[in-house]
Amino acid sequence: MGRFDIERKEMVELLRSRGISNETVLEAMAKVERHRFVNQTFIDNAYKDIALPINSDQTISQPYTVAFMTQALEPKKEMKVLEIGTGSGYQAAVLATIGCRVYSVERHLSLVTSARKIFDQLKLRILVKAGDGTIGWGEFAPYDGIIVTAGSPSMPEPLVNQLAEGGRIVIPIGTKSNQQIVVGKKNKDTLHTTVYDGFKFVPLIGKSGWN
Ligand code: SAM
Repeated sequence: MGRFDIERKEMVELLRSRGISNETVLEAMAKVERHRFVNQTFIDNAYKDIALPINSDQTISQPYTVAFMTQALEPKKEMKVLEIGTGSGYQAAVLATIGCRVYSVERHLSLVTSARKIFDQLKLRILVKAGDGTIGWGEFAPYDGIIVTAGSPSMPEPLVNQLAEGGRIVIPIGTKSNQQIVVGKKNKDTLHTTVYDGFKFVPLIGKSGWN
């Protein structure tokens, strides 16, 4: 048994008690070792339901937020997903463990380098690049799902354009201090949205985000 196996199980039970019901998501979060993605300084807190600092003044999102956003994306095996904001790589690893084909963009090159190293160690099928994710990743579009893990002032149009018909986008939108998670489903070129309160993210900085 690994050092953190019991704590990881307890984290998953907490997510279940907080209303996460998608078993595919819970199973993936029971498998992915979050302690590999946090700074060693915070390793003892890796399975607490809290966001933690990572390099470049960014954060690894709280497990509940990751679970909520992943569930909202309705992920399935072989689904092609674009993530904006690789950060530590944990969210991308959860999606890849579900069996999604993950493309991820991060604006800090040092975070891309460290995430890529973990993906290689874990043999995860994730393509990651440095750049401004608010303009998407046109080369591999369209995507069945897009997940944005930083808070945006509005819905970035390039991302909606890169979403496949019937695809879903999950994105925090609001002010710099307070956001709602918006879940949009594309149907005949129109985005039908549902909004969820009570989340807090670092800002999405870029051409179609904050300046
Ligand atoms: N998904 C990450 C994880 O599992 O650790 C969460 C990372 S953090 C909450 C959000 C990330 O979005 C930060 O690493 C930040 O640098 C990145 N970010 C902000 N604006 C961005 C942009 N325009 N393009 C790509 N990444 C961006």
